[in-house]
Amino acid sequence: MTYENLFNYMAREHGLNLLIEEMQEIEKMVDLDRQQEEIKSNEVTRIIPEFDSPKNWTQDRNLENGNYTNVCIRCKSAFMGHKRRVLCFECANKLD
Ligand SMILES: [Zn+2]
Repeated sequence: MTYENLFNYMAREHGLNLLIEEMQEIEKMVDLDRQQEEIKSNEVTRIIPEFDSPKNWTQDRNLENGNYTNVCIRCKSAFMGHKRRVLCFECANKLD
């Protein structure tokens, strides 16, 4: 079954809106997988950030893509925030 056939089948069976939600969930999981691979290659051991970590972008939480687990390019720590963020909150606020 090709990807397109599968998509059409799922759209027919589950309705398009639900399907789009499912695709977004899958996209999130794929993103997380990719990040975890990156984490492993950087030998960072903490994959899941604390919910109340000061490195998290709490103001992103209500955004559509605001609850991703990212790895800070500076301190290499995991943090929660919008999927496009590359710096944790702490590092972003102490740039030289
Ligand atoms: Zn950082």
